[in-house]
Amino acid sequence: MPLLSEINWSYYAKYPFVASAREIIVEHNFTLFNILNDVPEVLENVEKNLDLILEDIDSFASKELGKGATEFLSYSVQNALVSFINDKWFIQRYAEAFAKRTRMSIKKEKDSKIIELIAELGAKIEPEDTEPTTWKMKVIDYLKYLSEIRIPLKDVKLKHNMEKKWKLVNRRVGDGYVRNLDGRELHQIFEEVLRKWITKRISRIIGEMEETDLPKLLIEKGLEFKAKINDFKKERKIGEYYTGNVYNEAFPGCINKLYNDILAGRNLSNDERLVIEFFLLSIGFKKDELLKLFAHSPDFKADKSEYFIEHALKKEYYSFGCKSLRTKGFCYISPSVDLYNWCSEGKIKNPVNFFRRMVWMLEKIIFPHFISILLQFFFYPFFPIRKAAPPLVKYLKMTRGKQKSKKTGK
Ligand code: SF4
Repeated sequence: MPLLSEINWSYYAKYPFVASAREIIVEHNFTLFNILNDVPEVLENVEKNLDLILEDIDSFASKELGKGATEFLSYSVQNALVSFINDKWFIQRYAEAFAKRTRMSIKKEKDSKIIELIAELGAKIEPEDTEPTTWKMKVIDYLKYLSEIRIPLKDVKLKHNMEKKWKLVNRRVGDGYVRNLDGRELHQIFEEVLRKWITKRISRIIGEMEETDLPKLLIEKGLEFKAKINDFKKERKIGEYYTGNVYNEAFPGCINKLYNDILAGRNLSNDERLVIEFFLLSIGFKKDELLKLFAHSPDFKADKSEYFIEHALKKEYYSFGCKSLRTKGFCYISPSVDLYNWCSEGKIKNPVNFFRRMVWMLEKIIFPHFISILLQFFFYPFFPIRKAAPPLVKYLKMTRGKQKSKKTGK
C-alpha cells in the first residue's frame, strides 16, 4: 500500500469508485469520524457538491475538481450522507450527476483505460477480433445497462433518434454479443454503467448502515439537506401531482391545441407527443388516462405508448418550459384561452404554471360565478338578480389586481 504522500490523489478524486481507492480508505483508516475530525474542509466540499447537484447537475459536472485528497475523501462522506437522507428522487439525481462528471474526466483517457474502468464497475467489454478499434459487449450485459439509455440532449428529435440507435433491435448482434461498438460509444456506456453502479451502491449502504455508524455532525447536516431537498421538490412540484379535477379548460394555448388535435385524430409528431405527454403527467394524468387519450391517434400502439409513458414516469420528466416550446415553434397563444394575458405578456415560464393558476381561477372565481348566475336565473322569483352582480370580465380584472398585489407583497 502506498504511503499517503505517494498517493496520486487527483486520479482518485476522478475515479474514487475503483477497487484500489477502497483499499486506501481501509488501509489508512479513513473512517467517517476520522475524516470529519482531521479534514474539516471535506464536509464543506460535500455540502457544496450536494447543493450543486440539487440546483443544477450540469454545474456540478463541469465544476473543477478541488484539491485531490479533499475531493476523494468527500466521496465516502457524500455517499454516507445521501444514503442517510434516503430520498429516492435525489439518489437518482446524485448518481446521474456523478456519472456525468466522471464522463468528463474520461474524455482524455484512452479506450483501453475506459474499458478498464468499466470492468472495475462489473461490466465487461471486449475488443472485436477482426477490428481491434471496435468493441463488443455480451447481449445480456447490454440489456442490463443500456436498455433504458437516456441521452441528455435538449433537442428532443435528436435525443429520440440517438436513443433509438441504442435499442437492441437497431444494433448488430452476433454470437451472443452486441458488435462493433466504437470509441465514442464507450463513453456513453461508461456513464450508464457508472450511474447504475452508484445507485446500487447507495442502496447497499442504506441496507447496511445504522444511524449509530454516523457522526452526529453528519446526521445534523443530513437532516438540514433533507429539508432543502423537500423545499426544492415542493417548489418544483416534484412527486406531488395535482389531484383535483383536470380541467382541459385550464390548458394554455399550446397544450390546448395539441390536446384537441389528438382528439380530432391528428397524427402528432414525436416531439408534439412528448410535449403533451410530459405536461399531462406533470399535472397528474395517470397512465391509463394518457393511453385513452393517445388511443385517438391513427397509429396508436398500446405497448409502445405504454413503454414511453412508463419510461417518462420512471424518469420523472417534467413538462417542457415555454422557452423550449417557443424554440420548437409550439407556443400557440390563443386569446380565447389566454384570458389574463399571462402568456402574451410573458408571465408564464412553463405551461404547468399556467394550468395551476387557471385551475385556481376556475375553482375559486369563474365556476362559482356562473353557478350563482344560473341559480339566480332559475330561482329568479325567490332570488332576484342583484343589479350589482359584477360581470365575469370585472371578476377577471379584480383577481388580476389581487394577483399583482400578492406578487409585489402589497
Ligand atoms: S407562452 Fe408558454 S404556456 Fe403560454 S401558450 Fe406559449 S408555450 Fe404555452
